[in-house]
Parts: sequence; C-alpha cells; structure tokens
Amino acid sequence: MGAKTAENETANGGEKQPKRKRRIHKYRRKQRSTSIYFFVWAIFSALSLLIVLFCGFTQRFTTVRVYKDAATTELREIGPQIEDNISTYVNGWTGKDLSGFLRRLSHDNDVECYLLDQNGSVLFPQEHFDGTGEGDFSATLEKAKKQMQKKDLSHVVCEGDGEFVYVAEIEIFGGPGFLYITKSVALIESASTQLGVHTMLTLVFTFLLSFAVSSAFSAWLTKPLTELTEKARMLAEGNFDVDFRGSEYGKELVELAESLNFAKEELSKTDRMQKELIANVSHDFKTPLTMIKAYASMIIEISGDYPEKRNKHAQVIVDEADRLTSLVNDVLDLSKLNADMAGLKAECFDLSAYVYEILDRFAYLKDVQGYRFQADIEEKIYICGDRLRLGQVVYNLIGNAVNYTGEDKTVFVRLQRVSSGLCRFSVTDTGKGIPEEEINGIWERYYRSKEAHKRPVQGTGLGLSIVKTILQKHGVEFGVESEVGKGSTFYVLFSVSEDGTTE
Ligand code: ADP
Repeated sequence: MGAKTAENETANGGEKQPKRKRRIHKYRRKQRSTSIYFFVWAIFSALSLLIVLFCGFTQRFTTVRVYKDAATTELREIGPQIEDNISTYVNGWTGKDLSGFLRRLSHDNDVECYLLDQNGSVLFPQEHFDGTGEGDFSATLEKAKKQMQKKDLSHVVCEGDGEFVYVAEIEIFGGPGFLYITKSVALIESASTQLGVHTMLTLVFTFLLSFAVSSAFSAWLTKPLTELTEKARMLAEGNFDVDFRGSEYGKELVELAESLNFAKEELSKTDRMQKELIANVSHDFKTPLTMIKAYASMIIEISGDYPEKRNKHAQVIVDEADRLTSLVNDVLDLSKLNADMAGLKAECFDLSAYVYEILDRFAYLKDVQGYRFQADIEEKIYICGDRLRLGQVVYNLIGNAVNYTGEDKTVFVRLQRVSSGLCRFSVTDTGKGIPEEEINGIWERYYRSKEAHKRPVQGTGLGLSIVKTILQKHGVEFGVESEVGKGSTFYVLFSVSEDGTTE
C-alpha cells in the first residue's frame, strides 16, 4: 500500500524530479528528435574523415622521417668510402683533375662532394673555389666540428640547412682540410608538401563521397522503419487491414514486422470481440428490458386488480431484473478483475460444503425443467483462496454445463482428492463438446458460440474469461477435456489445506 502511494506521487509529478532524472529525460528527448538518418550520416562521415586524416598525416610524416633516416644511413655508408677514394687520389696526385674526380664521385653516389679548408671555404671542385659555387658551408662545418670534438670522432653525419652532411677531417696536399658531402632533403620536403595538398584533396573528395554514400545508405536503412511507422499510425487510427510485412529486410526488421503483424491481429481480434460483446450484451439487455416493460404494462392495464395474476407478472419483472443485474455484475466483475482492482481475500474453507451450497442454487432447474445433477463429492475437502471468487468459478462451470449438456439434461459434478495435497474439481456434461479449433478461443474475453442464446442459465460470453482470470490469480491448474458429440469436462486442481487453516 505504502509502495503504491509513493509510486503514485512520482507518477503525478507532484514531487520535484531529481536533477539527474531531468537531465536523462532531456537527453532522451534530444535523442528522439534526431533521426537515424542523421546518426548514420554523421557517424559515417566522421569515420571517413578520421581515416583520411589519419592516413594522410601518418603518410606525410613517416615518409619524411623514413627518407631522412635513409639519407643519414646512406651518408654513413658511402662517406668513409668516398673519403678513402679521395685520400688515395690526393696522395698519388700528380696534377690530375681533382675537381673532375670529385664531380664524378658526386654523380656516381648521388651526392655533392666538396673539399674545404679549415674555415669552410671550398678548395675543390675548382668552380666553387672561383666563387661560382653555391652556399656557405662554414656554419654547418662549425656545427660538425663541434660534434666531432665532443665525441672525439674523425667524421660525423649531421643535419644542415635543408640537407644532410657527412663531414670528415682529411689531409689535403699536406695541409688540414675537410671532406664535405651533402645530400639534399629539399626534394623530399617539396614531395611532402605535395603529399599534404594531395591529402587535402583526398579529404575533400572522400568527404563528398562519404556524404553521398552515407545519405543513400541512411535513406535505404530508414526507409522500412519509416514505412513501419506509417503503417503503425494507420493501425492506431483503426485500420486493421495494414500489413507490416513487405519492404523490410534483415532478420531484425523482419521480426519487428512479424511482431507488429501479430499485435495487429490480436488488436483486431479484441476489437471484433468487443463489437460482438456490445451486440451480445445489448441483445441480452434488450430481452429482459422488453419483458419488464411488457409485464409492467400488463399490471397497469390488466392484472392490477387481480392479485394472483398481478403477483405472477410482478415475479416475471423481478426475475428479469435479476438477469439484468447478473449481466451487469459479470461485465463489471471482469473489468475489475482485469484492471487488477479486485484484490483476492485469502481464507480457508470447506470446498465440499460450498459446492453443495452452489448446487442448491440450480435446484429450480431440477424441479421445473427436469435437469439431473449427479454429484460425486468427497467430504471435508478444505482449500484456501477467495471463497466468493472461487464460488463464481464453480457456479459458472456448472451454469455452462447446464447450458450445453445434451438431451439427457445431466450434469456431473465431482470433487475428489487425486494425490497428496491436491484435489480435482470437475464438471462434465453430455453435450456437443467443443471442436478442437475452438478450444483455445473459449477462454477469451467476449468469445461466444453462435448458439449462445435461449439457454436455461443466462450467459454473457464472459463466464469462462472470468473463470480463467480468477484461477490464474490463484495460480492453480485448470483446463478442459472435450470430445465432439460426447461432451466436455472442465476441471480445476486445487491445493488441499489438510488442517483447514491458512498455509
Ligand atoms: P457463455 O456461456 O455466456 O456464452 P462463456 O464464457 O461461459 O460464455 O463460454 C464461452 C463459450 O465457450 C460458449 O459460448 C460456448 O461456445 C463454449 N462453452 C463453454 N462451456 C461449454 C460446455 N460445457 N460445452 C460446450 N461449449 C462450452
């Protein structure tokens, strides 16, 4: 009870919602307003953008790095060889063409070779000496010298201005000098700039492509969902002809369409049954009302002054009013039971005595219409549950057996222990039985056979639904065994309370 009150307060919104809840609510609202189309497109585009950026930049930086590493390694390898060649050449120099030799070495090794003096001025090749050469090597030479001194080396590889340099101390015609070999990185720098431009172009192209592809993909993905939503809207407007199957693909969407179709069939069944109920109930209401009106008129016009006739007519009015009451009660009962408004009262009682008591209510059928009730009831069987509701079950089952039994007008009512702790209550008739295809339907709300009228016990098509709801709420096993042409047995298995007290 307490829990219910708390739940209601929150649901009513009377209390302030906690901040976090409000935030989640806001987020969900935002999520709802953004379409799957946009999500797919955004994720797709962002992903392709990231991939292109990642590839472009890694390619650019790794290429430059790899080239620089390769250049350094190459200089380390070829530097000493060139150094040896030059030493040999210079030592045996007898007016040979040293400049030409250096140019050849440069060409063969794809580098630039120079011989410098202590200050970094070019001695060879001659054209540089003449002042026609390029660059001032003194700054890089100073840097290399420092490194050689620091590490106590005779040669070193270092990075200069836009180039990699191999510098080695070398004796040139008896005097100190330096071999200066350069390998330019200008080419790779410009290549890498080109690569950057290329990356940008690829980026734009990929973005446009992913925009187009993701738009098409999102449209393809959301199309069946949009269609299903549209069909669901039509269903909500009461169109039960919609078929959810059709344009969907993929296991999940096919399952969704099938579930929606199933829901549609159930809804249309309930709708049909509700319409039938209204037709049936209005018919059942109309008959007693017509009778009441007719007999009341008769009392006014004819029998008012004749006590014997008047009493007979008044009794008909009372009986018809009773029928109306039971009809209204049935409808109310079922709606209460289904809306869970009717709580069960648990008590332990003597079911054997109670069944006899209920059978007595059918005594008038025995006397007036010749019905036979064969009771085989074991004494003193106690069960626990809602006595009034279970009485309704017993009454409805016996009432149905009376309505549907055969020419012999016999109804068998049995109550027996079947195993320790269990008893079986059953009602058997000798009527037409229930065809296999109808047996599941009879427990449904508003289900009614076509021959439901003109019966000794008035029914509404709600009797078995009330029985089912009550028994389900008690958690007991129940069912029907029926053979067409022979009759039906409705049964319920109750737990026995041995000492007659609540367990
Ligand atoms: P009602 O009896 O008022 O039509 P019920 O819910 O009690 O409604 O029963 C639903 C249907 O089940 C009946 O219309 C009838 O077709 C079938 N039915 C119920 N009891 C029996 C029975 N004992 N024998 C044959 N059919 C039955």
